[in-house]
Amino acid sequence: MNRDSETEDRNNDKKAVIIGAGPAGLTAAYELSKAGIKSTVIEKDGVVGGLARTVNYRGYRFDIGGHRFFTKVRAVENMWREVLGNDFLKRQRLSRIYYNKRFFYYPFRVTNALFGLGVWNSFLIAASYLKSQLSPELPEDTFDRWVSNRFGSRLYSLFFKTYTEKVWGIPCSEISAEWAAQRIKGLSLMQALKNALLKDNGSEKKETIKTLIDSFDYPRLGPGMMWEAVADKITRVGCELLLNSDVKKIHVGNGRVERIEISGNEAVESVHGTDYISTMPIRELIQKLDPAPPEEVLEAAARLNYRDFLTVSLVIDQPDVFPDNWIYIHEPGVKLGRIQNFKNWSGDMVPDPGKTCLGLEYFCFEGDGLWSMSDPELIEFAKKELEKMNLVNTSLVEDGSVVRMPKAYPVYDSGYRESLRIIREYLGGIRNLQLVGRNGMHKYNNQDHSMLTAMLAVKNILGADYDLWKVNADQEYHEEAAETGEEDLYGFQDLAGTQPIVPELVATQRASALDEAIIKAFARMDKLAFAVSVGTVCGLAVFLATLVLILKGGHIVGPTLSLLGQYFAGYSVTLKGAVIGFGYSFLWGFLFGWLFAYLRNLLTGIYVFRISKGRELSTFKNFIDYI
Ligand SMILES: Cc1cc2nc3c(=O)[nH]c(=O)nc-3n(C[C@H](O)[C@H](O)[C@H](O)COP(=O)(O)OP(=O)(O)OC[C@H]3O[C@@H](n4cnc5c(N)ncnc54)[C@H](O)[C@@H]3O)c2cc1C
Repeated sequence: MNRDSETEDRNNDKKAVIIGAGPAGLTAAYELSKAGIKSTVIEKDGVVGGLARTVNYRGYRFDIGGHRFFTKVRAVENMWREVLGNDFLKRQRLSRIYYNKRFFYYPFRVTNALFGLGVWNSFLIAASYLKSQLSPELPEDTFDRWVSNRFGSRLYSLFFKTYTEKVWGIPCSEISAEWAAQRIKGLSLMQALKNALLKDNGSEKKETIKTLIDSFDYPRLGPGMMWEAVADKITRVGCELLLNSDVKKIHVGNGRVERIEISGNEAVESVHGTDYISTMPIRELIQKLDPAPPEEVLEAAARLNYRDFLTVSLVIDQPDVFPDNWIYIHEPGVKLGRIQNFKNWSGDMVPDPGKTCLGLEYFCFEGDGLWSMSDPELIEFAKKELEKMNLVNTSLVEDGSVVRMPKAYPVYDSGYRESLRIIREYLGGIRNLQLVGRNGMHKYNNQDHSMLTAMLAVKNILGADYDLWKVNADQEYHEEAAETGEEDLYGFQDLAGTQPIVPELVATQRASALDEAIIKAFARMDKLAFAVSVGTVCGLAVFLATLVLILKGGHIVGPTLSLLGQYFAGYSVTLKGAVIGFGYSFLWGFLFGWLFAYLRNLLTGIYVFRISKGRELSTFKNFIDYI
């Protein structure tokens, strides 16, 4: 029997069970089917797509938050294109901030911000920025301090405070600074220096970065179209998709999942497999394990928190309401967080070109005041907020619907890392269970990283040994991709080999040679050592020159060099003069060397400071996108 048929036989013995038909679960099933492994996908909802579904309300389609498709993971990009072909559209982005009944471009444009805020306000912003640079608030342990120290307290309260508090539902002074720092990754000084130094293809990079920020891909009928197409493909090749099937219990024995108990339309039933992949929220997964894990693990799971989300979609009898894909609402006095205009994402999202469908997004907690309002109450509430903001003529609203989405955001609070550590340690003992996706790993993943974890989990089922927790959730990668040239990292070219590439490690290895060169170039000069060296060289030069001239002799010995006596008191072209000359030259050389090293260190310091600040500011430009 040859190796290929042996592998095929091994795969034929496998059967995977996947919890959740969101992007991660469906990607896992898709990849497994390509490898000839059958799978059963269990989904508690009646539709596929999870958080990336598209809701269809009387022909008006809307997302749970507009879903941009962007990635630097080539395998993900390939899959999207393979599945949707020409229905995968390139869209231009326009998104602005609405504040004080005015629009501000986002990412910011200086003149627009200046005009919008007025000269006095702009002056105050500049003054508070200067103050923050001269006397930053320490310790920098909370979100408000972290941001204020970088942008000044005034800009922080105008553009970051209200929106961030709306999203997370807690004061910024209670949000850990670590969270902000994680959101704004890419503050690596080394990367900043590399970018500044490797300027030769800078304009090309800038162009690519700009393009990536200003445009994105989008399925013609919304993200749900992608996931419905994947669901269709996998079921055609024999994969089982169980909708309306809620996981009730996960039975574990001998360090393996043995079966999953589900309840659906019909009676409770059991699903068996050899390998299990979960995308359901970790908190629930732990609560459903049977036998129950130790108390410490249950408590850790109970400490994981989520932020929930609801969309009120309004149909408006007007062809064009505003040109943006979405608007961030920073207006004080309203609860509204963001408005999507789905027609501007794709014209086919509305059945009638004479109408518009807006998605009004509210961040909330399951069971709070907003969440508990009835649908008609919420529609009225949303209309009133629109009216208050003077943004839309609400007499033209002719219909509306509401979608509530629990656990939209895994919360990164001060305790989540430790809770995850405890849970991961425990789950490490269940050998045939892998966690993937966003809530599946309690990671702030976009679709592509959710999919990537699923792809790697499938590779593991096929015999690889990837650490899925190492998949980088760098929210800034759509900018970084062009800068670092890392787009091949997840390209899977190396997967035929036995050694899996762990993305973070590869990045580190690739960077190390350049890093070393940069570290050398920017290392501080030792002032004393440099001064002594220059002084010695200068002293010896004069000393030796004097000796040579003495040995040469002549009518008048060393007439030119003897002019040094005008500057070095007591110097002459004699043996004694050589020693005096050495002393003076050493002293001047020493002073020059010290001053040179001092100035060089100072200028390098200023240069590095400027680069790192510039980088911080540029990564922060898109901060709100990552919230
Ligand atoms: C407001 C918002 C905006 C976003 N914008 C973008 C964007 O612009 N671009 C982007 O790429 N990503 C975006 N994302 C992120 C994206 O939605 C997620 O990364 C992606 O959906 C995660 O996929 P997943 O399969 O891991 O999880 P999910 O989409 O959460 O899917 C998990 C599935 O598991 C099911 N499930 C849960 N419990 C059970 C159970 N007990 N039994 C059976 N099934 C269960 C759920 O019903 C769900 O279908 C956004 C997310 C939100 C909330």
